[in-house]
Parts: sequence; structure tokens; C-alpha cells
Amino acid sequence: MSESHGTDPYAETDDQAALRELARGIADREIAPRAHEHDESGEPPLPQAKAMAAADLLRVTIGEQWGGFGYGDIEASIVLEEIARADVSAAIWAQLTFNGPPRGIEHLGPPAMQERWLPGCANGDELISIGITEPDAGSAVQEMRTTLTAQGAGFRLNGYKNYSTLGHAASGVLVWCRWPGGSGANGIGAVVIETARPGVSLAGIHQSMGVHAATEAELAFDDVEIGPEDILIAGDPTNTSAFKQLLAHLNHERCGNASMCIGAASGALEYATRYLNDRVIGGSPLAQRQGLQWKLADMAIALDSARLLLKRALHLAGPAGTPPALETAMAKTAANRAAKLVCDDAMQLLGGYGYSREYPLERAYRDIRGLCMGAGTIEAQLNYVGTNVARGRTTNSPGWIGQRFE
Ligand SMILES: Cc1cc2nc3c(=O)[nH]c(=O)nc-3n(C[C@H](O)[C@H](O)[C@H](O)COP(=O)(O)OP(=O)(O)OC[C@H]3O[C@@H](n4cnc5c(N)ncnc54)[C@H](O)[C@@H]3O)c2cc1C
Repeated sequence: MSESHGTDPYAETDDQAALRELARGIADREIAPRAHEHDESGEPPLPQAKAMAAADLLRVTIGEQWGGFGYGDIEASIVLEEIARADVSAAIWAQLTFNGPPRGIEHLGPPAMQERWLPGCANGDELISIGITEPDAGSAVQEMRTTLTAQGAGFRLNGYKNYSTLGHAASGVLVWCRWPGGSGANGIGAVVIETARPGVSLAGIHQSMGVHAATEAELAFDDVEIGPEDILIAGDPTNTSAFKQLLAHLNHERCGNASMCIGAASGALEYATRYLNDRVIGGSPLAQRQGLQWKLADMAIALDSARLLLKRALHLAGPAGTPPALETAMAKTAANRAAKLVCDDAMQLLGGYGYSREYPLERAYRDIRGLCMGAGTIEAQLNYVGTNVARGRTTNSPGWIGQRFE
């Protein structure tokens, strides 16, 4: 008789399970074998993107009218988890396609912009990077200086974005910028332009600790002509409405970030567990040592806790919605922290080999470290959760503050 008599509210459908199997097969055959080489060379993951495109994996979230499958955040998360289990850098290409600019373009963009970009993103020919962060505007994004000035029916764009993941490999870039007359969060909107457009230049490529194959570029915008067709969402200098819509879209990206953390950490846990079973010391496998089993237990618990929080946020989004901010902030924080713990301990469990570049664990450890900063730092998520809790708003108990506890 089975131990459990209930049902798993987050169980995958047959279609979702099939998608996971497909993604895992591509990850094992096409992504994992290339990960080390691209990590060493820093070459963007173009062959990996081609392999994902050939398997139709990049079509997951984009609407059917543009050649996609029109699935939601759950399916995006499944693919990201499986690809990141083999290689975070390759998963980042899919993350930009699923949870980056194409989503905003589909939800907010004008028809001409949708036609221009979405079919190419769905088949892997186009990649759009994201330009939000500036040297003096990271967590405090409302301090941004990148600005539009009016010119005829359009604008000119001037500014500098210093952390645009894969900006050096992308054909387009979504730029958050300030509309004339705006200050603070008022008047922030966004445009989408080609990276080959006159006035856009690559100012540098970061030499980061991890995600070497999907590192961040510095992009400069010097009097770039912006037409009405390039406007994703116009900023209104009198209010923050466009800014808030842009912020809400980041919840997709945060769930994708959490998925990649969970995927990479799952891969690390599996690898370390296999190693402990194979490594015989003093006549028995290391996996039989209770001290090490406790480590594995802590890793598995951290990972499952994060996974459950993520699944809640994804299921609340539904097939076509946006994951809610509070649940998303909790999930991203838990996934970032779980990945740090799991990848660190997995490396430790391999002893000296874990620290060696010949084994994939130190790469996963370096890669997930960057994910703890991208898409809003852990501290930014904690600020949001903490502000809500301090006001008496938690996810399962809204408004308990002020009640008497007897
Ligand atoms: C791998 C990677 C990929 C990235 N990809 C992109 C991308 O594609 N596009 C893009 O636009 N940006 C990208 N970024 C930039 C990223 O979004 C920023 O690094 C992040 O928002 C933090 O901004 P900052 O680096 O300026 O740090 P700061 O905002 O200066 O923060 C420094 C430290 O202070 C903490 N802190 C800041 N404010 C507060 C506060 N109010 N309360 C408590 N703690 C606070 C932060 O959490 C952090 O620990 C990427 C970054 C990384 C590492």
C-alpha cells in the first residue's frame, strides 16, 4: 500500500513531463558536452542555442501566432531547470527568450514590434538582451540617466547600460529609459532596438566569476534614433504607471532565475551523490557515512523547499498571467540561497576534485553566484518581503497585524 493517500497539487501533466524529458535529452546530448569548452573560452552559447531551437525548445512561451507554443511560466521553468542542470550559460539564452524581452513585447508592444521580433526569437535567430542597470542605478533603478529627447515624431536615445547579459551576442536590446520631463520613477518607459543600429556600441564585456559563456556587456547609446515603432511602453513624466508594468514583468524573469538555480543545484546534488556512492574509503562507500548523509539531507531539503515556493508562484501565475510579486520574491530568495548551499556543499563532498576545473561542480558554484545578483539581488527581494510582512501582509495570512493574540 502506498504511503501517501493525497495528491500532489503541483504534479506535472503528461505534456509537462514529456517537455521535461525532451529538455533533459537535449541538455545531456547537446548542452553538457559543450559546457566546459564554452566556460573556458567565454564564447557565447550559439551552438547550444541552435540545438535548443532545432528541438523547438525556444518556442515554449511565445504565442502561437508568432510561431511559438504559447505555454506559461511552468513550462518555461521546466525547460530552464533541465538546461541549467547541465549548463547555466546555455540556459540563460532560453531565459532571455522565455522571460525576457519577448514577453514584454508580446504583452505590451505594438503589432509591428511583435512581427519584427517574436518569430525570430521563437526560432532562435534573434536574441534580445536587457539594458536596465547603469553604473549609478542598480537596485535603485529609478536613478537611471539613460534618456530620450524629443525629435520630430520620435526621439533620440542617449545613455549607458553596464550589465546587459549577452548584449554582445544579441541582435536586439530592450532599454529602460526616461521620457522627457520625468524624474525618479516618473516617466520611465522602454524601447526595443537593434544592436546594429547607428549609435549603439559595445563599450566592454565583463570578465565575471561565472556564466563565462553568457557574460554581461556594456552598451552605449549615442544619439540613437528612436521611432514610434520602437516604443515598447511610453513613460509618462507625471506618473509611474509604465515603470510599474515593467517591474511586474521582472517577476517572470525572477521565476526563471529561480528555476535555473534549482536546476544547477539539482545537477550538483546528483553529481555529488553519485560520487559518494562510487568513492570507497576504508572498505565502504562514502555515501554510507551518516555525517555525509546529513549533508545530502540538508541539501535536498533546501532544494525542495525552494522548489515548492517556486511552484506556488508559477501555479498562481496560471497559464497566461504573471507570477505574483511576494511569492516570487520568496521563491527567488529561497532558490538563490539553496543553490549557494547545495553547490558549495556538493563541491566539498568531492574533496579536492570538487575544486578542480575538470569536474563540473566548481562551474555550477561560480555560475549560480551571479544569479544571486541578477534579476534583483537577494537583499532587494528581502526588502520587498520584509516591507510586506512588517505591514502585516504575508502570503497566507493577510492582515493579521492589529489582531489580538490570546
Ligand atoms: C550575472 C549577472 C547578470 C546580470 N544581467 C543583467 C542584465 O541582463 N541586464 C541588466 O540591466 N542588469 C543585469 N545585471 C545587473 C544586476 O541587475 C545588478 O547588479 C543588480 O540589480 C544590483 O545592482 P548593483 O550591481 O548596482 O548593486 P547595488 O544596487 O549598488 O547594490 C550593492 C549591494 O547593496 C545591496 N543593496 C542595495 N540597495 C539596498 C537596500 N536598499 N537595502 C539593502 N541592501 C541594498 C545590494 O543587494 C547589493 O548587495 C546582472 C548582474 C549579474 C551579476
